[in-house]
Amino acid sequence: MKPKIAAPAPAPTRRSRRPVPIDVPVLDRLSLRIPSGQKTIVSGVVATPARLRRRIRELARSIQDDFGNREWVVVALLNGSVLFVADLVRELHGPLILDFIGVSSYGDGTESGKLVYTKDLKFEVAGRDVLVVDDILDTGRTLSEVIRRLKSLGARRVRSCVLLDKPSRRVVKQGADYIGFQIPDWFVVGYGLDYAERYRHLPFIGVLRPEVIAAAARERVR
Ligand code: 5GP
Ligand code: MG
Repeated sequence: MKPKIAAPAPAPTRRSRRPVPIDVPVLDRLSLRIPSGQKTIVSGVVATPARLRRRIRELARSIQDDFGNREWVVVALLNGSVLFVADLVRELHGPLILDFIGVSSYGDGTESGKLVYTKDLKFEVAGRDVLVVDDILDTGRTLSEVIRRLKSLGARRVRSCVLLDKPSRRVVKQGADYIGFQIPDWFVVGYGLDYAERYRHLPFIGVLRPEVIAAAARERVR
């Protein structure tokens, strides 16, 4: 048998200043151990609170290493990323400034719509290193538009972090520098993610039951 020889490590280039991609765990199995009281809302659990905590700690470690000691700005997208960013920043040493930008793309349904800004930044990002934080990367439209805006405001360097990524749904070519988990094309709620503004408070992420969507549609027709 031929001995296995490890390929030589690629020579560092100037481009290697981009964060080194770390393995992204894929969550493609549902746990049916659903907390009582939520069984009529979700058909399975994608990520438990403990799993979220562990992964957020890993993301924070790699973000902190990359950003270092120069003060940076964390820009969280409202409303979906609030629970995620609250836990993420508590794992970061900084120095950092936390600001929010309001952007809405979903309206009341589960399909991505026109993007509208609902709240502007409070802090001046010109010349600053920025980390954009969002809940989920789906078609990619939201993140790509927000990054474009931050650059147009003069941000020096813009990096992005999303808790979830649904690569199969991508419409525009947009990735993220830090990704919590990859998931299949499921519509998920909890841990900040909503359906018609509901279920954001759930401490876990679960797949929304189609019956909930059907009931909401009936409610609208009435
Ligand atoms: P994109 O612009 O990438 O299509 O969508 C990004 C936004 O759509 C997210 O910030 C999130 O608000 C919403 N979104 C995408 N997929 C899901 C999902 O599975 N569940 C929920 N609740 N929101 C989603
Ligand atoms: Mg959102």
